[in-house]
Amino acid sequence: MENSKKMRTWLDEMNLTHPLVIAGPCSAETEEQVLKIAHSLKDTDVNYYRAGIWKPRTRPGNFEGVGALGLKWLQKVQKETGMKTATEVANRAHVELALEHDVDLLWIGARSTVSPFIIQEIADALKGTDKIVLVKNPVNPDLALWLGAIERLYAADIKNLGVIHRGFSTFEKTKYRNIPEWQMAIELQSKFPDLPIINDPSHITGKRDMIFDVSQIALDLNFDGLMIETHCTPDLALSDAKQQVTPEALKDLIQELRIGQTENEIDERVSPADKNQQSPEHMKA
Ligand code: PEP
Ligand code: MN
Repeated sequence: MENSKKMRTWLDEMNLTHPLVIAGPCSAETEEQVLKIAHSLKDTDVNYYRAGIWKPRTRPGNFEGVGALGLKWLQKVQKETGMKTATEVANRAHVELALEHDVDLLWIGARSTVSPFIIQEIADALKGTDKIVLVKNPVNPDLALWLGAIERLYAADIKNLGVIHRGFSTFEKTKYRNIPEWQMAIELQSKFPDLPIINDPSHITGKRDMIFDVSQIALDLNFDGLMIETHCTPDLALSDAKQQVTPEALKDLIQELRIGQTENEIDERVSPADKNQQSPEHMKA
């Protein structure tokens, strides 16, 4: 797979004047919850409405998603708000159901990207689709595994591709839920400069009050967009409660983010500790 300008056609054709924004709840919980959040994100900069239908939970016994029923709610979102929709798929059955229900953008979760068998199954099920497919980085910081997943999809003639940087697991205690390891995203950008890359500050930080800073770093690093978990009553969310923001907070956050800053301005904002820990190379240049 070689870099090609065509990789960003789907994004360029959107003619956005701002970074791509994917927002919505971690999980679809009820029809009312899905529609209420969607209506409050209508007429904002949000381009895709996300909601997890099948939730990959690390431990059993937690909320595992509402399943296929939620796809009907996403269809209602399209109909009532005109917003495009997005959900996670993790096997052939998910892909078939999501396609049947016209989900506009599918993403592959971090726990799936680690498994070449699962990725191949998803790629085969999606073969030739013109849907947008975004690949989250694997939970472990392994660029080859991330690239391998993209290559499998590309080989299945899936051309509207992109990646989501959601951070990496670590045994060490850090302020992040998943450490950003910006260097890994930068390496991917340098190998495939035209492959759209979206940042997911919600899963990187795990805390809503850190989302703005991580989003700003991502935009400074020329990321093409953000995926931010949004819920009307975040503290009551059935999954990822601490990292979700309200629709109002999301709108403020998007307004405050700076786009296209000079290196000096960026340098002033990023703390020396952050620079050393995550070593975004371009900031040292
Ligand atoms: C999610 O987007 O809610 C999710 C489960 O993400 P990840 O695969 O990044 O953990
Ligand atoms: Mn989540």
